[in-house]
Amino acid sequence: MKQHAEQPYVRSCPVGCTAPITDSAIVVAEGALRRCSGCGQLLSRASAARYAETMAQFNAADFNAPQGRELARRQAVAQRRLARITALLGKAAADTRVLDVGCSRGQFVAAAIAAGYRAEGVEPAPRVAEAARAAGLPVVTGLLEDQHYPDGHFDVLTLFEVIEHLRDPLPLLAECRRVLKPAGILLVSTANAESWTAAAMGARWDYFDMEKDGGHVSFYNPRSMAKIAAAAGFEVARLDTARVKFHDKGDTPRGLYVLGKIVAELLNLPARLAGRGHDLLAYLRKPSAG
Ligand SMILES: [Zn+2]
Repeated sequence: MKQHAEQPYVRSCPVGCTAPITDSAIVVAEGALRRCSGCGQLLSRASAARYAETMAQFNAADFNAPQGRELARRQAVAQRRLARITALLGKAAADTRVLDVGCSRGQFVAAAIAAGYRAEGVEPAPRVAEAARAAGLPVVTGLLEDQHYPDGHFDVLTLFEVIEHLRDPLPLLAECRRVLKPAGILLVSTANAESWTAAAMGARWDYFDMEKDGGHVSFYNPRSMAKIAAAAGFEVARLDTARVKFHDKGDTPRGLYVLGKIVAELLNLPARLAGRGHDLLAYLRKPSAG
Protein backbone atom coordinates (compact mmCIF):
# COMPACT_ATOMS: atom_id res chain seq x y z
CA MET A 1 0.00 0.00 0.00
CA LYS A 2 1.11 3.52 -0.81
CA GLN A 3 2.39 5.39 2.24
CA HIS A 4 1.09 8.86 2.97
CA ALA A 5 3.36 11.13 4.95
CA GLU A 6 0.63 13.48 6.08
CA GLN A 7 -2.35 12.56 8.25
CA PRO A 8 -5.73 12.75 6.52
CA TYR A 9 -7.80 15.80 7.45
CA VAL A 10 -10.79 13.52 8.19
CA ARG A 11 -9.65 10.80 10.56
CA SER A 12 -12.86 9.30 11.95
CA CYS A 13 -16.42 8.70 10.74
CA PRO A 14 -18.28 12.04 11.11
CA VAL A 15 -21.49 10.13 11.80
CA GLY A 16 -19.92 8.97 15.07
CA CYS A 17 -19.44 5.27 14.30
CA THR A 18 -16.67 3.43 16.08
CA ALA A 19 -16.65 0.61 13.49
CA PRO A 20 -13.42 -0.03 11.55
CA ILE A 21 -12.55 2.18 8.57
CA THR A 22 -11.03 0.39 5.58
CA ASP A 23 -9.81 1.36 2.11
CA SER A 24 -12.43 1.32 -0.67
CA ALA A 25 -11.71 0.44 -4.30
CA ILE A 26 -12.21 4.09 -5.31
CA VAL A 27 -8.74 5.55 -5.75
CA VAL A 28 -8.57 9.32 -6.37
CA ALA A 29 -5.56 11.65 -6.59
CA GLU A 30 -5.23 11.85 -2.79
CA GLY A 31 -5.31 8.01 -2.44
CA ALA A 32 -8.07 5.43 -1.86
CA LEU A 33 -11.26 6.77 -0.32
CA ARG A 34 -11.80 5.03 3.04
CA ARG A 35 -15.14 3.49 4.00
CA CYS A 36 -16.74 3.33 7.45
CA SER A 37 -17.89 -0.26 7.93
CA GLY A 38 -20.61 0.99 10.29
CA CYS A 39 -22.54 3.32 7.96
CA GLY A 40 -20.83 3.20 4.55
CA GLN A 41 -19.63 6.81 4.74
CA LEU A 42 -16.67 7.42 2.39
CA LEU A 43 -13.82 9.60 3.64
CA SER A 44 -11.11 11.40 1.70
CA ARG A 45 -7.45 10.84 2.49
CA ALA A 46 -6.62 14.50 1.70
CA SER A 47 -4.38 16.32 4.16
CA ALA A 48 -5.47 19.49 5.95
CA ALA A 49 -3.20 21.52 3.63
CA ARG A 50 -4.73 19.97 0.48
CA TYR A 51 -8.22 20.56 1.89
CA ALA A 52 -7.50 24.26 2.55
CA GLU A 53 -5.98 24.68 -0.91
CA THR A 54 -9.04 23.26 -2.73
CA MET A 55 -11.51 25.21 -0.54
CA ALA A 56 -10.09 28.50 -1.82
CA GLN A 57 -12.12 28.28 -5.08
CA PHE A 58 -15.33 29.11 -3.20
CA ASN A 59 -14.28 32.70 -2.74
CA ALA A 60 -13.44 33.35 -6.43
CA ALA A 61 -15.40 36.30 -7.79
CA ASP A 62 -16.95 34.21 -10.60
CA PHE A 63 -17.61 31.08 -8.51
CA ASN A 64 -21.07 29.54 -8.83
CA ALA A 65 -22.56 32.03 -11.27
CA PRO A 66 -24.57 29.83 -13.66
CA GLN A 67 -26.29 31.32 -16.69
CA GLY A 68 -28.96 30.32 -19.20
CA ARG A 69 -30.24 26.74 -19.03
CA GLU A 70 -28.30 25.81 -15.88
CA LEU A 71 -29.70 28.85 -14.06
CA ALA A 72 -33.24 27.98 -15.21
CA ARG A 73 -32.74 24.35 -14.09
CA ARG A 74 -31.58 25.47 -10.63
CA GLN A 75 -34.53 27.82 -10.25
CA ALA A 76 -36.95 24.99 -11.09
CA VAL A 77 -35.16 22.74 -8.56
CA ALA A 78 -35.46 25.47 -5.88
CA GLN A 79 -39.22 25.80 -6.50
CA ARG A 80 -39.72 22.01 -6.21
CA ARG A 81 -37.77 21.90 -2.94
CA LEU A 82 -39.73 24.84 -1.50
CA ALA A 83 -43.01 23.16 -2.44
CA ARG A 84 -41.95 19.96 -0.60
CA ILE A 85 -40.89 21.95 2.47
CA THR A 86 -44.23 23.77 2.53
CA ALA A 87 -46.12 20.47 2.25
CA LEU A 88 -44.15 19.13 5.25
CA LEU A 89 -44.58 22.31 7.33
CA GLY A 90 -48.25 22.84 6.48
CA LYS A 91 -47.75 26.60 6.69
CA ALA A 92 -48.17 29.44 4.18
CA ALA A 93 -45.04 30.76 2.47
CA ALA A 94 -45.66 34.28 3.81
CA ASP A 95 -45.47 32.92 7.39
CA THR A 96 -42.35 30.83 6.75
CA ARG A 97 -38.98 32.19 7.81
CA VAL A 98 -36.16 30.56 5.79
CA LEU A 99 -32.39 30.72 6.30
CA ASP A 100 -30.05 29.31 3.64
CA VAL A 101 -26.79 28.37 5.38
CA GLY A 102 -23.82 28.57 3.01
CA CYS A 103 -26.02 30.43 0.53
CA SER A 104 -23.22 31.29 -1.93
CA ARG A 105 -24.49 34.02 -4.31
CA GLY A 106 -28.01 33.72 -2.89
CA GLN A 107 -29.81 32.01 -5.78
CA PHE A 108 -31.98 29.95 -3.41
CA VAL A 109 -32.69 33.00 -1.22
CA ALA A 110 -33.79 34.90 -4.35
CA ALA A 111 -36.01 32.00 -5.48
CA ALA A 112 -37.60 31.76 -2.02
CA ILE A 113 -38.27 35.51 -1.82
CA ALA A 114 -39.78 35.42 -5.34
CA ALA A 115 -42.09 32.60 -4.15
CA GLY A 116 -43.27 34.71 -1.18
CA TYR A 117 -41.13 33.28 1.65
CA ARG A 118 -39.32 35.42 4.24
CA ALA A 119 -35.85 34.27 3.27
CA GLU A 120 -32.30 35.30 4.11
CA GLY A 121 -28.83 33.79 3.85
CA VAL A 122 -25.49 33.41 5.58
CA GLU A 123 -22.29 32.72 3.63
CA PRO A 124 -18.69 32.45 4.88
CA ALA A 125 -16.92 33.32 1.58
CA PRO A 126 -16.76 37.16 1.62
CA ARG A 127 -16.69 37.83 -2.14
CA VAL A 128 -19.72 35.74 -3.04
CA ALA A 129 -21.63 37.05 0.01
CA GLU A 130 -20.87 40.58 -1.17
CA ALA A 131 -22.11 39.66 -4.67
CA ALA A 132 -25.39 38.47 -3.12
CA ARG A 133 -25.80 41.76 -1.24
CA ALA A 134 -24.96 43.72 -4.39
CA ALA A 135 -27.89 41.87 -6.03
CA GLY A 136 -30.13 43.23 -3.24
CA LEU A 137 -30.41 40.02 -1.24
CA PRO A 138 -30.44 39.83 2.60
CA VAL A 139 -27.20 37.88 3.03
CA VAL A 140 -24.65 38.23 5.84
CA THR A 141 -21.01 37.18 5.68
CA GLY A 142 -19.87 34.57 8.18
CA LEU A 143 -20.62 31.22 9.75
CA LEU A 144 -24.04 30.35 11.16
CA GLU A 145 -22.46 29.84 14.59
CA ASP A 146 -21.25 33.48 14.65
CA GLN A 147 -24.67 35.05 13.98
CA HIS A 148 -26.21 34.25 17.40
CA TYR A 149 -29.77 34.00 16.11
CA PRO A 150 -32.36 33.55 18.88
CA ASP A 151 -33.57 30.02 19.76
CA GLY A 152 -36.41 28.83 17.52
CA HIS A 153 -36.10 31.76 15.11
CA PHE A 154 -36.57 29.97 11.77
CA ASP A 155 -39.17 27.61 10.30
CA VAL A 156 -36.76 26.29 7.68
CA LEU A 157 -33.00 25.97 7.35
CA THR A 158 -31.29 24.76 4.21
CA LEU A 159 -27.76 23.33 3.91
CA PHE A 160 -27.05 22.83 0.22
CA GLU A 161 -23.77 21.11 -0.67
CA VAL A 162 -22.18 22.04 2.65
CA ILE A 163 -22.01 18.88 4.74
CA GLU A 164 -19.58 17.03 2.42
CA HIS A 165 -17.01 19.76 3.18
CA LEU A 166 -17.08 19.27 6.94
CA ARG A 167 -14.85 17.02 9.02
CA ASP A 168 -17.29 17.18 11.94
CA PRO A 169 -20.75 18.50 11.01
CA LEU A 170 -22.39 17.74 14.39
CA PRO A 171 -21.74 21.19 15.97
CA LEU A 172 -23.26 22.89 12.90
CA LEU A 173 -26.26 20.53 12.96
CA ALA A 174 -26.71 21.28 16.67
CA GLU A 175 -26.76 25.02 15.94
CA CYS A 176 -29.28 24.44 13.11
CA ARG A 177 -31.49 22.54 15.55
CA ARG A 178 -31.22 25.33 18.15
CA VAL A 179 -32.29 28.14 15.80
CA LEU A 180 -35.14 26.07 14.28
CA LYS A 181 -38.65 26.19 15.69
CA PRO A 182 -40.05 22.91 17.06
CA ALA A 183 -41.32 20.90 14.03
CA GLY A 184 -39.16 23.11 11.78
CA ILE A 185 -37.47 21.60 8.74
CA LEU A 186 -33.76 21.35 7.95
CA LEU A 187 -33.17 20.43 4.30
CA VAL A 188 -29.73 18.92 3.67
CA SER A 189 -28.51 18.26 0.13
CA THR A 190 -25.37 16.37 -0.78
CA ALA A 191 -24.42 13.58 -3.17
CA ASN A 192 -25.25 9.92 -2.63
CA ALA A 193 -22.04 7.89 -2.49
CA GLU A 194 -24.09 4.68 -2.85
CA SER A 195 -25.73 5.89 -6.08
CA TRP A 196 -25.61 4.06 -9.40
CA THR A 197 -23.55 7.03 -10.60
CA ALA A 198 -20.89 6.38 -7.93
CA ALA A 199 -20.95 2.64 -8.68
CA ALA A 200 -20.59 3.18 -12.44
CA MET A 201 -18.10 6.05 -12.44
CA GLY A 202 -16.04 5.43 -9.29
CA ALA A 203 -13.02 7.72 -9.22
CA ARG A 204 -14.09 9.27 -12.57
CA TRP A 205 -17.08 10.94 -10.87
CA ASP A 206 -16.25 14.63 -10.53
CA TYR A 207 -17.90 14.69 -7.10
CA PHE A 208 -14.96 12.65 -5.76
CA ASP A 209 -12.44 14.94 -7.53
CA MET A 210 -11.08 17.62 -5.19
CA GLU A 211 -9.57 19.48 -8.10
CA LYS A 212 -12.99 19.98 -9.74
CA ASP A 213 -15.20 19.98 -6.63
CA GLY A 214 -13.01 21.59 -4.01
CA GLY A 215 -13.13 20.57 -0.39
CA HIS A 216 -15.21 17.41 -0.75
CA VAL A 217 -13.90 15.16 2.03
CA SER A 218 -16.90 13.24 3.39
CA PHE A 219 -19.42 11.35 1.26
CA TYR A 220 -22.85 10.35 2.54
CA ASN A 221 -25.42 7.71 1.59
CA PRO A 222 -29.04 7.37 2.77
CA ARG A 223 -28.03 5.23 5.79
CA SER A 224 -25.23 7.50 7.01
CA MET A 225 -27.47 10.55 6.50
CA ALA A 226 -30.24 8.97 8.61
CA LYS A 227 -27.69 8.08 11.31
CA ILE A 228 -26.17 11.56 11.54
CA ALA A 229 -29.66 13.09 11.55
CA ALA A 230 -30.58 10.94 14.54
CA ALA A 231 -27.28 11.75 16.28
CA ALA A 232 -28.07 15.47 15.86
CA GLY A 233 -31.59 15.07 17.26
CA PHE A 234 -33.60 15.21 14.03
CA GLU A 235 -36.28 12.94 12.58
CA VAL A 236 -36.11 12.08 8.88
CA ALA A 237 -39.34 13.52 7.43
CA ARG A 238 -38.49 12.60 3.85
CA LEU A 239 -35.41 11.31 2.03
CA ASP A 240 -35.15 11.51 -1.76
CA THR A 241 -32.48 10.63 -4.27
CA ALA A 242 -32.52 11.66 -7.93
CA ARG A 243 -30.56 11.52 -11.20
CA VAL A 244 -28.02 9.13 -12.67
CA LYS A 245 -25.07 9.71 -14.98
CA PHE A 246 -22.28 7.58 -16.38
CA HIS A 247 -20.02 10.18 -17.95
CA ASP A 248 -18.93 13.72 -17.32
CA LYS A 249 -18.81 15.95 -20.39
CA GLY A 250 -15.32 15.90 -21.85
CA ASP A 251 -14.18 12.56 -20.42
CA THR A 252 -15.74 10.45 -23.19
CA PRO A 253 -16.11 10.43 -27.00
CA ARG A 254 -19.25 12.33 -27.99
CA GLY A 255 -21.22 9.28 -29.28
CA LEU A 256 -20.66 7.37 -26.06
CA TYR A 257 -21.52 10.44 -23.99
CA VAL A 258 -24.88 10.81 -25.79
CA LEU A 259 -25.63 7.08 -25.43
CA GLY A 260 -24.76 7.25 -21.73
CA LYS A 261 -27.06 10.23 -21.31
CA ILE A 262 -29.98 8.39 -22.92
CA VAL A 263 -29.49 5.34 -20.69
CA ALA A 264 -29.12 7.61 -17.65
CA GLU A 265 -32.41 9.38 -18.49
CA LEU A 266 -34.17 5.98 -18.66
CA LEU A 267 -32.76 5.07 -15.25
CA ASN A 268 -33.85 8.29 -13.51
CA LEU A 269 -37.17 6.92 -12.30
CA PRO A 270 -35.88 3.48 -11.17
CA ALA A 271 -32.96 5.21 -9.39
CA ARG A 272 -35.39 7.44 -7.55
CA LEU A 273 -37.50 4.44 -6.52
CA ALA A 274 -34.46 2.41 -5.44
CA GLY A 275 -32.79 5.31 -3.58
CA ARG A 276 -29.81 5.10 -5.96
CA GLY A 277 -29.88 8.56 -7.58
CA HIS A 278 -26.77 10.71 -7.03
CA ASP A 279 -28.52 13.77 -5.60
CA LEU A 280 -29.40 13.08 -1.96
CA LEU A 281 -31.99 15.29 -0.29
CA ALA A 282 -32.82 14.81 3.38
CA TYR A 283 -35.77 16.74 4.83
CA LEU A 284 -35.12 16.57 8.58
CA ARG A 285 -37.57 17.65 11.24
CA LYS A 286 -36.80 19.02 14.68
CA PRO A 287 -39.07 17.07 17.04
CA SER A 288 -42.06 19.05 18.34
CA ALA A 289 -41.27 18.29 21.97
CA GLY A 290 -37.82 19.62 22.67
ZN1 LIG B 1 -19.90 5.58 10.05
